[in-house]
This record gives sequence, C-alpha cells and structure tokens, in this order.
Amino acid sequence: MDLRLPQDLPLRNQKVFLRCDFNVPLKDGCIQDPSRIHAVLPTIDYLIQHECSIILASHLGRPKSKFDSELSLKPIEIYLKSKGYDVQLDDFHDRNATRIKSQKLLKGQILLLENVRFYEGETKNDQFLGQFYASMAPFFINDAFGAAHRAHASVVSTLKYYEPNNIAAGFLMDKEIKGLNQILQPKKPLICIFGGSKIADKISLIKHFINRADHILIGGAMAYAFLKAQNISIGLSLIHEGSMEQAQEIINLIKSSSTQLHLPIDHIISPPEGSEVLASITDDVQIPTNQKALDIGPETIASYSEEIQKASTILWNGPMGWFEEPTYATGTLAIAEQIAERCQAGAYAVVGGGDSLAAINLAGVAGNISHMSTGGGASLEFLSGVKLPGLVNLIKA
Ligand code: ADP
Ligand code: MG
Repeated sequence: MDLRLPQDLPLRNQKVFLRCDFNVPLKDGCIQDPSRIHAVLPTIDYLIQHECSIILASHLGRPKSKFDSELSLKPIEIYLKSKGYDVQLDDFHDRNATRIKSQKLLKGQILLLENVRFYEGETKNDQFLGQFYASMAPFFINDAFGAAHRAHASVVSTLKYYEPNNIAAGFLMDKEIKGLNQILQPKKPLICIFGGSKIADKISLIKHFINRADHILIGGAMAYAFLKAQNISIGLSLIHEGSMEQAQEIINLIKSSSTQLHLPIDHIISPPEGSEVLASITDDVQIPTNQKALDIGPETIASYSEEIQKASTILWNGPMGWFEEPTYATGTLAIAEQIAERCQAGAYAVVGGGDSLAAINLAGVAGNISHMSTGGGASLEFLSGVKLPGLVNLIKA
C-alpha cells in the first residue's frame, strides 16, 4: 500500500489544510506529554520549508460538540509558538472571517483551528463543514493516523472538495502504515502477544491473526476467560460477561488453523481477602477459589520468552497483568524486555495500545522497539484488516 506523500504534490508556496492528531494528555492546561506534537513536526517543517502556509486542524478529547475551555487547542498554540512557529489560534466561529484570515496567511504562517470537535458537524461528517475546511486551501494533507478510523468531516467529508491529486498523507501516517504493514506481511515466524483486560476489545484483532501468526500468546485478564472455557479453575479472577464464549470461539477457530495458541501455565495471585500474606505464585495453572490472578507467573514468562526469542516478527498489544501495581508488573515488564532483546537480534516488533506503550516506557526499552504505534483504535482496526475511511483516498492509484 503506497500512500501519496507531500513530495508527490506541487506544494511550493501553496496553502495546505493539514489534519493532525494533537490529542495530547493535558492537566490544568499543561501538556503532560508532547510526543504527539513532535510526531507531526516533520510534516509541518516540510511544508514551511516549501514556503507553504498551513491551516492546521486537530481534535482533542471528546467535547460535547460545544466549546469546552479544558479541551481548547490553546496549549498547542502556546507550545508551537515556544518552538518558534508563527501560529495563531482561531475558533472559526465566524467562518467567513476565518476564511479571510486564511487567505491573508503569509509563507510559513500557521492558522490553527480550534478543536474541530467543538462543532457538531465534525463527528457527523457534515459536508458543509468539510467544504468549509477545503475552501481555505487547494491541498489537503492528512497526518492524523490516530483519527484515520473516524468518518469525520476533517478526515473524510472534506476530501471530495479537493482535486484527487491534491490529497496526500503526511510523514507520520506513512511511518505508521509502513510499520503496521510489516505485521500484515510479516517475515515468519510471526508471534502475536495479546493481553489486556477485555477480549471484546480485541476479538477481531485476534481473529485476524489466526492462520497469519505462527503463535498467539495470551496474557492479562483476558487469559482467564480462555482458561475458564477449558474448565480450569480461575478463582476470583476478573472475567467479563460473554468473554468465555468469545474465548471458546477463538479456541475453536485456532484448533483447525496453522496457528498455535499459548495460555498461561502459572500465575501471580493476590492474597485472600483480609489475609496478611503477600502475593504468591500458583503451583500450576489452577487458581485457588478464594484468590485472584493478576499477572502471569515465572513458568509462563519462561515459556513465552522462549517463543519470543524464535520470532522474526512480533506484535504486542495488551499488558500481561495489572502492571500499574509494581507487585503485578513482572510479567509485563519481562515481555517488554524480551521483545526489546529480540529486536536487538534483528527481529521486527510493533507495539500498540496506550497501556502497552506505557509498559514499554516503564521498562525503559522504547529505543529498541522497531515501531511504537501511537494510533490507538486506528492501529488496532488497521491490524484487524479494516479499511480505514481516512486512508482510502490517500493511496496512490
Ligand atoms: P492497551 O491499552 O495496551 O490496548 P488494554 O487497555 O486492553 O491494553 O488493557 C490494559 C489494562 O488491563 C491495564 O490497565 C492492566 O492493568 C489491565 N490488566 C491486564 N491484566 C490484568 C489482570 N490480570 N487483572 C486486572 N487488570 C489487568
Ligand atoms: Mg488501554
């Protein structure tokens, strides 16, 4: 899948509508982690070097289709200014006035539109809003991979108001697609490690890798549904409604496939309620009736590590346990370290999912991971084989 890129467009001294993903974590108006902003600077810088002026748009959080000062892009404007960009925030309440401002932009200047989700038309994929965005620039660049799974006005409806050849993906989008495609067209063996809390969130992803992956390793709370489906005692471990049936469906599909399923063979369990004892390791796969499993055990770590060290390609989504609590973080951190080690030996690994990325950072191995996919829901949908609505028109004919 080849995307049209900025260098494929005649951009010199042009106006460009650039959709980014500035959905950064904020606390009291302060940006907690600016990585999402840094990730799109290559595209912004490219446009500025080519003497373009930019109409920049992004969503932030989930405002209820009206102004919400806590979700304003003001902190983004301040941040970009601090990095030397000539940027001005505009609430585009008066669209004519905004259009006039956009026409007056000089080379290298940026008009940052306020959070696009302040307007109802954005999430409704409203064509008039899409047309308004396009009325400010003849070129459209989408660098918001994290929003590519959303049929929203600044991602989809705006597309039809540009010449098809005036539309391209940004460099971050390209990096994400190239990284994720290495998992969809992998060098074998491909090992997928799935964890986290709910099977329901991941079922289409897991199914998509049956017959594609050589091994699927399961951890996290979702593992208990798989164990219970096989009549193994899971004690008080977390299990969501309907998850046993979903686990059973996956087990059945895997049975008649070329993929091998691996489940935890031991666990770290919390002490029984009211007891003074510490967390402990189970003797085997069974979990005592009055206890709860919160991490994979050492035998499981050893056997999963062995599989990881044989992989050429690795996909990891979902922590192996309640890793936010240090007592139950060992399994997750061990898997993070194993993946990093395998990458150093030449394997290609993609890690996706907010909590899994946090775990990689906690383990301090981010620098060794081939691709840290920041797309959240968009990454998971892309890997599940879904055609993302925001991507379709960006692919080279
Ligand atoms: P990601 O964000 O990487 O896609 P998820 O959101 O699916 O991952 O799952 C991560 C969450 O699951 C974490 O908050 C983690 O603490 C929780 N979790 C994983 N295993 C367990 C477990 N055994 N018991 C309780 N919570 C768990
Ligand atoms: Mg999560």
